[in-house]
Amino acid sequence: MKLHEYQAKEILAQFGVPLPAGRVATSPAQARQIAEELGGKVVVKAQIHAGGRGKGGGVKLASSPAEAEQRAADIIGMQLVTPQTGAQGQKVKSVLIAEQTDIARELYLSLLLDSAAGGLVFIASPAGGMDIEEVAATRPEEIHRVVIDPASGYQAYHGRKLAYALGLSGDQLRQALTVFNGVYRAYTASDASLVEINPLVVTNDGRVLALDAKVTIDDNALYRRPDIAAMRDKDEEDPLEVEAQEMGINNYIKLDGNIGCVVNGAGLAMSTMDVIKLAGGEPANFLDIGTVNDPQRVVSAFKIMTKDKAVKGVLINIFGGMARTDVIATGVVEAKRQLDLPNFPIVVRLAGTNVEEGKRIIAESGLPVITADDLGEAARKAVAAVQGL
Ligand code: GDP
Ligand code: MN
Repeated sequence: MKLHEYQAKEILAQFGVPLPAGRVATSPAQARQIAEELGGKVVVKAQIHAGGRGKGGGVKLASSPAEAEQRAADIIGMQLVTPQTGAQGQKVKSVLIAEQTDIARELYLSLLLDSAAGGLVFIASPAGGMDIEEVAATRPEEIHRVVIDPASGYQAYHGRKLAYALGLSGDQLRQALTVFNGVYRAYTASDASLVEINPLVVTNDGRVLALDAKVTIDDNALYRRPDIAAMRDKDEEDPLEVEAQEMGINNYIKLDGNIGCVVNGAGLAMSTMDVIKLAGGEPANFLDIGTVNDPQRVVSAFKIMTKDKAVKGVLINIFGGMARTDVIATGVVEAKRQLDLPNFPIVVRLAGTNVEEGKRIIAESGLPVITADDLGEAARKAVAAVQGL
């Protein structure tokens, strides 16, 4: 789960990471009031989950409360397009009003899990700021990695390595150690999967501050972090994905293609997408319906398929282990009975538990379903069917 910058900063502040003072506003009048409290010179920052806001015009300096109010009026309600939002952009509902900072240097710092390294890794660069992706692509020697052994956890020597990589010494090194330690503790205490500070700045008067913050939380840990789970902003998520979760389908991710996939098991769902591509098609989604023993779950999956207007055909690929293929087949029949399904081709491939019964249910239903015995055949038939439309 992603957080807004202001929420990420609330967490980091609890762990002693130094930040410019600021508060979130949902109206221009409120923005003005906060700017007054902060002394007038502020930065007005669109709160959306996507990054690259500066490049899209979502970060503006203001030198008075009146100007802050104007900038907030410009930004709140806008459809902000950044390099990370896609062309349709994201609607801005609130702005962070933060004390303006005089920047001497922009640095980059993040902490994330590197499964290849077997631990958390800090990534640091002295060339932080809005062009970090370009630095990574063209000057990779300016990106430094410090792996934290999970047995020892973060230690002061990790911090000294990071500070050295960032070109910090003396009092700024000491301040940076507070940042690294705070980031590490915030990460572990929040079950984060990413903490990113870009830029981490050195100010003209020698302070080290987190000017921006991005925190992503491991969804599987949200059950034990109710305070963080409450920070969820569903407006930032794909509406169909939210709806799928509300129907009990937790593993649905919308993609760009036109073949809707209904599959059990994440591994099989991945290979189904691969084989569709191999057959020359494009999956419309990743969907793992899980171990289903309720036909209604299949009906729910079909509801999602019909709401995604990009779907031109559906491929059902089930390997029955704990899940029974006859239950799935009953679900397909129920979906056709209960829903007003568009006239898209449905390809069904069933294998495993109760497969004879499953196939019999499909055959006797009289539904115009295309059947297949293996995945390759199913994918080829699905691709041919949607291309024939
Ligand atoms: P992002 O573009 O979504 O990553 O948003 P950031 O919070 O990183 O802001 C983008 C850029 O705006 C930063 O890299 C800074 O150069 C600039 N910026 C942000 N806040 C301030 C500020 O208080 N003072 C100044 N001078 N520049 C700022
Ligand atoms: Mn940033």
